[in-house]
Amino acid sequence: MASADTSPAPSGTAIVTRIAPSPTGYMHIGTARSALFNWLFARRHGGTFLLRIEDTDRARSTPQATDAILQGMAWLGLEHDGDAISQFARADRHAEVARAMLEAGQAYKCFSTQEEIAAFREAARAEGRSTLFRSPWRDADPATHPDGDYVLRVKAPASGETIVEDEVQGTVTFRNDLLDDMVILRSDGSPTYMLAVVVDDHDMGVTHVIRGDDHLSNTPRQLMIYAAMGWQPPIYAHMPLIYGADGKKLSKRHGATGVEEYQAMGYPAAGMRNYLARLGWSHGDDEFFTDEQARAWFDLAGINKSPARFDFKKLEHLCGQHIALMEDADIVAQIEGYLDAAAQPELTTAQKDGLKSAMYCLKDRARTFPDLLDKAHFVLANRPITADEKAAKALDDVSRGILSELTPHLQNASWSRDELEGLLNSFCAARELKFGKLAAPMRAALAGRSATPSVFDMMLVLGREESIARLTDAAVKG
Ligand code: GLU
Repeated sequence: MASADTSPAPSGTAIVTRIAPSPTGYMHIGTARSALFNWLFARRHGGTFLLRIEDTDRARSTPQATDAILQGMAWLGLEHDGDAISQFARADRHAEVARAMLEAGQAYKCFSTQEEIAAFREAARAEGRSTLFRSPWRDADPATHPDGDYVLRVKAPASGETIVEDEVQGTVTFRNDLLDDMVILRSDGSPTYMLAVVVDDHDMGVTHVIRGDDHLSNTPRQLMIYAAMGWQPPIYAHMPLIYGADGKKLSKRHGATGVEEYQAMGYPAAGMRNYLARLGWSHGDDEFFTDEQARAWFDLAGINKSPARFDFKKLEHLCGQHIALMEDADIVAQIEGYLDAAAQPELTTAQKDGLKSAMYCLKDRARTFPDLLDKAHFVLANRPITADEKAAKALDDVSRGILSELTPHLQNASWSRDELEGLLNSFCAARELKFGKLAAPMRAALAGRSATPSVFDMMLVLGREESIARLTDAAVKG
């Protein structure tokens, strides 16, 4: 990460949260939800929300994955405070803490080789004992230390219990005899993930760790380091993971799992935030809410204890409500972002202007941006309009005849909704024609589509000249 800042964030504010993604691929939707919860919690309390890129695992971390995280956060509008922090850049500090633990007798040098550890495990398995590695070096006299490679291991309590008071899971008890003396510093001097997380959270002044419950089992191990250093641990809230409709952990099998895929599918960020907030958190029966409401309401007590199932129908329903509420210019700007993410051609200036002028009749019924653009086809396409297969069915000889009869009536009409409604209704009445029999070929002629805004809206947006030209094109063709 080019612009990484390794200094801890300024503290002093009451609440400090963070999102700590590992840049090993794309940004998972579960990470986005954790980011959202941490962001909402910090914003609600006037606190600080930090971003730490957990790039300690050099083999798996890529700059592309870091970019995907930064872009995903930016798209979702989850602004973090200060610079993104690179965990890798703080490796010296992690090692310093490991050494301090060694000095204090809370950690020890372990000279066991991989082969010895494997042999220990094999023997344990054969004898039916626990395969947790018990290092022979834990209590060894330093005078007996060889001059070879070693790792630093934490001196974990061998008996008793570690209790995690979790804001979501309640009191969770872990047996200490089931925890091993984990490695905190590898033989090459690099810190392990478990150490780095704790040192960073402490140095960054993190007060609340809100994360997926796949990290719950790491928590007693992390608490060991806090205890060894005499540091105050943060408050933990481990939320259940996101499941697919079949009740299994959300994976590629269920469809999109990466945040950027949702942008490329054309969901508005506000709808996504609303849906992700509801996915694992409740405020009474409220389904739809604005960012302001979410920021005012978000609390840890509202985090659900059972896993939520991802439901595309609900997501789309909420997205539709958000699109309807958005400012027209904002919709156009977000559509441009969507087209870019979906690797589709940009809008021309004329198309943007067209979209803005038609937005009033597009935004109420669209659930996604592609949905909106489909309804906007009439204002995005130029003559000659080609009808798609479904719309073309409405353009037979009879309906072409109807359109040629209609166009002269439009020449002198005043171009207002009332006038056009009156005109088309009396046109139909005089011919004992159901309105649908006129509207369907008009949709095909004006938009080339069968699902469109009303024919009145399309005529008003397109104007007299363009409307008549399109109707005439369709009437004479074939
Ligand atoms: N880097 C971890 C992950 O991406 C998160 C660690 C944490 O939140 O404590 O799953």
